[in-house]
Amino acid sequence: MSKTIFAKIIDREIPAVIVYEDALCVAFHDVAPRAPMHILVVPKKPIAMLSEASSEDRELLGHLMVTAAGIARDQGYGDAFRLVVNNGEGAGQTVFHLHVHLLGGRTFSWPPG
Ligand code: 5GP
Repeated sequence: MSKTIFAKIIDREIPAVIVYEDALCVAFHDVAPRAPMHILVVPKKPIAMLSEASSEDRELLGHLMVTAAGIARDQGYGDAFRLVVNNGEGAGQTVFHLHVHLLGGRTFSWPPG
């Protein structure tokens, strides 16, 4: 399978504004931000989408959420932020490497569109 754009960012083959990295994940600014803070938290493990994660990924998935909350705090949006995971084309997923959208800095409507 060919490398996704996010795998290329993780491997520094294409540029991105990286705000956080550890052994399990990388977080960088979305190229087309939908909010004043729009960061993508991406596992280094190339899981295509959430529905393809398995029970062995439980800890990794929890790590992504805890990390996202920490980044929100670091970016000054710790009190109000939204996490979004689009799973599958029908839900709006366009990059098939699991990622958590971390959005903040504006009002969010409910239910989401
Ligand atoms: P999805 O629609 O799959 O949930 O989200 C993919 C996100 O990746 C979109 O918000 C899109 O703007 C972002 N994106 C696509 N290509 C690139 C890129 O090359 N660099 C960065 N930083 N973000 C990208």
